[in-house]
Amino acid sequence: MNNRDNPTPKSPDDGNRGGMNGGQTLLIIVLAAMITFAVVGFMRNQMRQGGSREVSYTHFLQMVDAGEVNSVVIGNTQIQIEARPGVGGYTEPVRFYTVRMDDDSDLIPRLYNANVDMTRERSDTATVFYSLLSFILPFVLILLFMNFMMRRMGGGGIMGVGKSNAKVYIQKETGVTFADVAGEDEAKESLTEIVDFLHNPGKFTRIGARLPKGALLVGPPGTGKTLLAKAVAGEANVPFFSLSGSDFVEMFVGVGASRVRDLFKQAQENAPCIIFIDEIDAIGKTRDSRLGGNDEREQTLNQLLSEMDGFDSSKGLLVLGATNRPEILDPALLRPGRFDRRVVVERPDLKGRVAILKVHAKDVLMDDTVDLEAIGLATSGAVGSDLANMINEAAILAVKNGRKAVSQKDLFEAVEVVLVGKEKKDRVMNQKERRIVSYHEVGHALISALQKNSEPVQKITIVPRTMGALGYVMYVPEEETYLKSKQELQDMLVSLLGGRAAEEIVFGNVTTGAANDIEKATAIARAMVTQYGMSGKFGLIGLAQTEDKYLSGRAVLNCADETAAQIDQEVMDILKESYDQALAMLKENREVLDKIADFLINRETITGKEFMEILRRTRNGLQAPPSERKVLLV
Ligand code: ADP
Repeated sequence: MNNRDNPTPKSPDDGNRGGMNGGQTLLIIVLAAMITFAVVGFMRNQMRQGGSREVSYTHFLQMVDAGEVNSVVIGNTQIQIEARPGVGGYTEPVRFYTVRMDDDSDLIPRLYNANVDMTRERSDTATVFYSLLSFILPFVLILLFMNFMMRRMGGGGIMGVGKSNAKVYIQKETGVTFADVAGEDEAKESLTEIVDFLHNPGKFTRIGARLPKGALLVGPPGTGKTLLAKAVAGEANVPFFSLSGSDFVEMFVGVGASRVRDLFKQAQENAPCIIFIDEIDAIGKTRDSRLGGNDEREQTLNQLLSEMDGFDSSKGLLVLGATNRPEILDPALLRPGRFDRRVVVERPDLKGRVAILKVHAKDVLMDDTVDLEAIGLATSGAVGSDLANMINEAAILAVKNGRKAVSQKDLFEAVEVVLVGKEKKDRVMNQKERRIVSYHEVGHALISALQKNSEPVQKITIVPRTMGALGYVMYVPEEETYLKSKQELQDMLVSLLGGRAAEEIVFGNVTTGAANDIEKATAIARAMVTQYGMSGKFGLIGLAQTEDKYLSGRAVLNCADETAAQIDQEVMDILKESYDQALAMLKENREVLDKIADFLINRETITGKEFMEILRRTRNGLQAPPSERKVLLV
């Protein structure tokens, strides 16, 4: 991916993230001052003792009684002693010190009687300060430690509590415009209107139109929601405050709310501008009345709602939110005057994918073999970030193979790297496993080739990949379709179960290798029964609801328990019927199955063309081969 999408903040301090803020500097100064005082105090003490020798208290009293002491300075903890000249054989007065006994009330009269010159050490401010220091220092250290921990946890530290942490981007530096966002024409169209509001709010307010305050970008991850938000800022030529919903979620109740307040304050000072909150579902989840809910998140959401109600949109402030879970958002967020516009950013269709590939291919050297249309066809279901990633991966592969430009082969290899991971050449399967995997994969491919409704086989391989596949069949459709018929789904089921069926027929035993196929087949059969109204038993009843349309697409059952049991039975029946069909088809074509599997065991990878040729030759006119089908080549 290129770094046009990662603009730098306009200055290190703009985002309150880079550099030190005032609070931090203050803390460091205080700490440095304390350490200096502590060191100076220690040295002062050392100098005061002046290298003198310590004597015991008893020895000190004996010296007093013997008239050997000239003067004393009595401190809080120590007594400095100056001996009379001649004591110990020295002509100069010698200095000693001893540790003071607190409960010796006789000391003063005793010194007085011995004619010792007495002075009380003055408790100057420094001494008071040093004793205070011993209390304060531990607290300061604890505070610093907590600050350090909070920073590591991603907060702004103690001084940053309540700060918004928003990164500010200036259009000049992001340079993203609608031209950088390929496909997504409908989304761009609705956002163009918003850009117009920001450019020229007066045009709309004059006629009495209420300006939109917020728009919600909804769609699966990687479809370009962030990119679109940046493009809006780029097109409107206004600053862009960007942060993620999870940045608001903090350990302390009330911190998120104060971050929201701070963000809106900053934004209003910089209006016209755009606030972009990614993953808004992190704070915008439906408020939960059960179990008291989550106080911190609810306060943050309430604050966001009230800020959105409060700001004056005629100044040109616009809040864009992005989410891939719109169904869990609190309805209050979607009311008029808040995020009342919903911009759907869908997975790109074929045209969109080719356009996205073109945008990203612009900066990469490509040779004549490259046909982005074919790559677009092979990448059904891929989103913008996958496609950007594929182009980059292909460029890396070209460099690795010592080529000056990217070829179509690199691109196809990159598609596989993104979809199934890198080749794992070092994983050597034993001969028996290679046979099983070969038969399994050919089982899938052969059934697809024998069916009318399946997509053409592009490649079969038994080279393991890093994302777990031991082998796979790659299909490439001839054209993109948006609907699936019941027959197509049934054919998919038979083909998915073809791998397991081949294992059973050839080895009389089955392996764990079919787990993923079974999972996929079950999901299709279940959706046919509960969502698509395609089962004879239930007919047209919706028995499940999609939970997160843009993420896993998982559906939850919405029916009585007995119905759920019947659904399971119906799903089992459908799968059993498909499996029997797969067994029958493969038994009938055992010879082709063996031939192609043998070829695959030796070659590890076969292309769609080779596959079709063996199929045609072996079947030798028994049935008309589906030769009219076009096979795309690598
Ligand atoms: P989202 O916010 O929807 O998860 P992003 O905007 O972060 O997705 O997209 C990630 C990257 O994918 C972008 O920076 C861009 O490189 C690429 N990308 C996604 N969609 C598109 C698109 N429609 N056109 C061009 N590039 C895209």
